Amino acid sequence: MPTEVARSARPPNEFVPSPSADTFRPVRPIGRCVITAGTSEAAFGSPAAPVTVGETRQRGAYTAGMPELPFVEALVENLRPLAEGRTTEDVIVRSVYVLKTFDPPVTDIKGRRIAAIHRRGKLLVFDLTGGLVMIIHLRRNGRLQVVPRGKGRTARDLAITFALDGGMDLRMIEMGPKKAASLWLFPAGQETKTEPLAGLGLEPLSPEFTREALADMLGVERTHLKRFLGLQRHVVGIGNAFSDEILWEARLSPQAMTTSLDGDEVARLHGAIRRVLEEAVASHRREFAGSLPMREPVHLLRVHRHGKEPCPRCGTPIAVIYYEDRETYYCPTCQAGGRVYADRRRSRLLR
Ligand SMILES: [Zn+2]
Repeated sequence: MPTEVARSARPPNEFVPSPSADTFRPVRPIGRCVITAGTSEAAFGSPAAPVTVGETRQRGAYTAGMPELPFVEALVENLRPLAEGRTTEDVIVRSVYVLKTFDPPVTDIKGRRIAAIHRRGKLLVFDLTGGLVMIIHLRRNGRLQVVPRGKGRTARDLAITFALDGGMDLRMIEMGPKKAASLWLFPAGQETKTEPLAGLGLEPLSPEFTREALADMLGVERTHLKRFLGLQRHVVGIGNAFSDEILWEARLSPQAMTTSLDGDEVARLHGAIRRVLEEAVASHRREFAGSLPMREPVHLLRVHRHGKEPCPRCGTPIAVIYYEDRETYYCPTCQAGGRVYADRRRSRLLR
């Protein structure tokens, strides 16, 4: 039973401004998903009560961030009962920037049924009847919602609306001024021959992703581990947040070179990729409990976005490297032999 405190607390999917530099700031509060199949605040526990996760991580913090494999997996799983089997009665494009293909035109989706929805890496793949495949990449700030027909169709953040039979709208919104969310439409069979699907690497939770396969990938891509994990052409679905989580789990430095790992380190990295993502998929499922996720739950992460907090393993304050638009979080003791890497952003300012 939700307590009075829990009811008055912020629902987990509500936008919560964070002081972090790259937090997006919507022009107005973004409401939680209206359709919450089987969702109640009780399902999220009591967000007001601090619950220790890894001893130090508190509930209630959610960040924007680029949706990664666990987030998109939860999204696809929770979207299926709302959209699969539904026929699109109308398509309303609010932002043409979202359209990456023009032939066939997106209006061809009208009258087609959504036969199946899958995840591939960070992408959502919609199999439509009549031989069409629609692919959506949310990028950083795109989100999907299912809302009652016509609700918020003039909203500033709205990118595209699919009016489904049964009285609901499936819509993509994109918060913030930078528009990068993307939608492709292909004749079935063509989608694997071009971007965004062509050239993607292995699914990290598939049986094909073995330790040997990882060793081969590391051998052909000479770069540092943090960058390697986010490339998508070797392993898909990992981005800035889960690369930090995986490297912390593996006790490997984000700056270590792919080609310098010994057999034990490759095994640790492989195990960490599987373990971290499997656990994250399970925790995201529990966290979103049937609702469409809007924000990455920071309290489920152990090091990413937890700068200066004690390492859950050794207590050393988590350090941060700022580089371009990315932040890398790591434990200097567990991952870098006690070294604290230079904050490259600060170095540049001092030059
Ligand atoms: Zn540590």
